[in-house]
Amino acid sequence: MKTIAVIGGGSGGISAANHLSYKLREKLKRNEIRIILIEPSRYHYYQPGFLEIPFGLMRQEETYKEIDKVLATGVTLLQEKALKIDLENRSVQTDRSKIIYDFLVIATGARYDFSAIPGFVEGADHFYNLEGSNTLKKKLNDFNGGTIVVGVSGMPYKCTPAPLEAAFLLHDMFKSRNLRDKVNIVYTYPMPMVFPDKGISDFALRLFKEKGIESVLDFKLKEVDPKSRDLISADGKKIHYDLAIVAPPHRGSELIAVSGFGDQFDWVPVDKFTLNINGHKNAFAIGDATNLQVSKAGSVADAEAIVVAKRIVEEIDGYNPETLYDGSGGALMVTGIGKASMISSNYNLSPVFMPESYSFYWLKLIYNKVYWNMTAKAVLSEVA
Ligand SMILES: Cc1cc2nc3c(=O)[nH]c(=O)nc-3n(C[C@H](O)[C@H](O)[C@H](O)COP(=O)(O)OP(=O)(O)OC[C@H]3O[C@@H](n4cnc5c(N)ncnc54)[C@H](O)[C@@H]3O)c2cc1C
Repeated sequence: MKTIAVIGGGSGGISAANHLSYKLREKLKRNEIRIILIEPSRYHYYQPGFLEIPFGLMRQEETYKEIDKVLATGVTLLQEKALKIDLENRSVQTDRSKIIYDFLVIATGARYDFSAIPGFVEGADHFYNLEGSNTLKKKLNDFNGGTIVVGVSGMPYKCTPAPLEAAFLLHDMFKSRNLRDKVNIVYTYPMPMVFPDKGISDFALRLFKEKGIESVLDFKLKEVDPKSRDLISADGKKIHYDLAIVAPPHRGSELIAVSGFGDQFDWVPVDKFTLNINGHKNAFAIGDATNLQVSKAGSVADAEAIVVAKRIVEEIDGYNPETLYDGSGGALMVTGIGKASMISSNYNLSPVFMPESYSFYWLKLIYNKVYWNMTAKAVLSEVA
């Protein structure tokens, strides 16, 4: 019997395990294959919902489900934490067992390194996990005037448009509460643009002008001073805030650091087309965990999960794996209540974005619901 071990039950891991189970169902029935998903959490989280909670656009109960409710039959859930991966000996040591695998898919996502920015925990808020989103929701409800800074501590971070979306939504929220003239919204970014792509940055700057949102560029956050309520950059610039909403520093999982094959920020180095961990034909990494220069986005994690599932099936069926990842990913960027635009890109195409419309906003609302029964459950596996 061959063992496929998937580590991480987030967007990429669930998608990979479910696609594998559909594609290998006959072999699973004949006990020729087993698919193991290693994930310590009881829940699978739909993280795009964390941005919606503070603005009252989603309820927290809509952003998570018990993992076994989204897993396809045939996938064995091991509710354990992976402690160390040995790529040479094809094994994963967890807090309770040791798994010897034939194929490995690492989908351990990103962790937040709050301690990298002194004062972050005491002085800044964020919407990057459920707890942060709920706290921010309360603070926004109580906020009646002053300066709100929306910023990014450094690159890379999850969902590149999310901080822009937050700035646009803040404008609409305070406008609808008749408080917009009492609230100053400032957006900071560590690059000389408000988004890594010039076309999208120019588009966002036009919207900033319409909505009266200020921007401070090339602002590389070094410290938060919770007493004076200042954000301080590496070159000594200070921005005063009453509420600071900041994307925290992102790193790869500690598992990668302990296992000794990550880069200096614990991202897993992979081949950009095959998604193989460099030098290991039977081991892959997908989603936020990789060092690839693509968005840290659920759409990317899902596209990569499909590629890896196909490559493993090709290998098991005795073919030379041919399926390659083309760098594709996309996002629906909310530009205010009732409006969104769509961004898509791949390795050969710099980000293309479609003008804002109500249809894209509607699509985003629908997707927030259908994610659970469509993407997470890999129901399109037959045609993918
Ligand atoms: C506020 C916000 C808004 C977003 N909006 C969008 C959007 O609009 N569109 C979009 O495409 N993407 C969006 N994203 C990004 C998207 O959620 C992530 O890119 C996606 O979840 C990545 O999937 P992943 O499987 O790589 O990681 P994750 O979904 O983070 O899952 C990683 C899993 O690995 C597990 N794990 C970690 N270490 C171990 C270990 N040692 N052993 C076992 N398991 C482990 C974790 O518990 C976790 O369950 C958003 C993210 C945020 C935070």
